[in-house]
Amino acid sequence: MKIKYLFAFSMAAALFQPRAAQAQSCENGTCETWAVYDSGSNAILGGSYYENFYGSVANVNVYIWDPNNNYTSLGGAVNDSYAEKDFSYTPQISGTYTIVGYNYYMLEDNPWAPDGYSSCTQAADPPQPPDPTPNIQGVTQTPWQAGSQISASVSGSGFGTSPTLQIQWPDGTYYNTSCSGPLCDGQIAFTATVPADAGGTATLVVTSNGYNGQGFFAGGSGDSPTSNEYQVVVQGSGTCGDQRDSIIAQYATYGATLYRPVCTDFTTNASSAHFSFNELKSPDADWAILRADLFDGLEATRSLEGGSSITINRGYSTPAHNYAISNGATPNSQHIYGTAADMGTGSAQATWDLLSAAAKAALACVEPESQSTISHVHADWRLA
Ligand SMILES: [Zn+2]
Repeated sequence: MKIKYLFAFSMAAALFQPRAAQAQSCENGTCETWAVYDSGSNAILGGSYYENFYGSVANVNVYIWDPNNNYTSLGGAVNDSYAEKDFSYTPQISGTYTIVGYNYYMLEDNPWAPDGYSSCTQAADPPQPPDPTPNIQGVTQTPWQAGSQISASVSGSGFGTSPTLQIQWPDGTYYNTSCSGPLCDGQIAFTATVPADAGGTATLVVTSNGYNGQGFFAGGSGDSPTSNEYQVVVQGSGTCGDQRDSIIAQYATYGATLYRPVCTDFTTNASSAHFSFNELKSPDADWAILRADLFDGLEATRSLEGGSSITINRGYSTPAHNYAISNGATPNSQHIYGTAADMGTGSAQATWDLLSAAAKAALACVEPESQSTISHVHADWRLA
């Protein structure tokens, strides 16, 4: 018992830097109380020892005061001649904790003790409350589509102020990004491109680096800087289940590189007040990509040119159709991305000029007449 006490106390001397140690001598015997702040387990380890020189029963009791001056009994020990009570306590709030041990049979006045009688005191280092384990609760824009660009955010709790986000794609490759600032604690926004043809599950993990540049501070068992694994379904290419799959495949076949469409980019019926689906779709497909910006731009153009009807020579083109009519010269034509329309002019210069000016006023990219020829005005409202 004595050896154990000496060992424990020498450990305390090595690791513990008391803030306000008040080791008091005990009446009628030897009494010590010690505490070690263990940063590994984030617990306050300590104990109290009392040896009764008179050889009668020793009864040591230990209490801990938190920074709000609320105390908790840590228990006691009774034995002949000497007794030792060891404890491990996990602090719940930040601040200075004070440990008090006292011999039950002593009546030495000490205001720290709950009954007003105490022997020895020693303060612990101020403990740091453990950082929470990050927890991912949700992700926006799901499910994801292989080959598409996603601008999404991960939300949850306990991310800290400088977390990292890792996404493992279905093909085993990784995307990593980091976030900095107080808002990162609950949300990480990111933009990433899902690898093409990689259907399956993406796994997201957030790693906390603690708060305010202090690094992650692990608490008790189970605390971790690494979050739960959050899984998102990634719809692989070729999983729309209809004609869209073959159209999407054409983008790779015919060398389109600007954007890889996903199932939800397509429509079978989009239209606006003066422009129908049928006049804007590709002649070889029932599905088409027709962006809202295209309809808005065409309506604005029509309004700006005076409200006369506009003949659409060409709207959306599948990559195969685009290849056929351009002989492969324009693999990234805006027509395959659903942003472009060719407006017929009847080969009249006045009409070309009118439509061109109106489309430009509607913020379109307009092809020069030398390229489009006088037969039509090509206007597109391309993706940023
Ligand atoms: Zn065109």
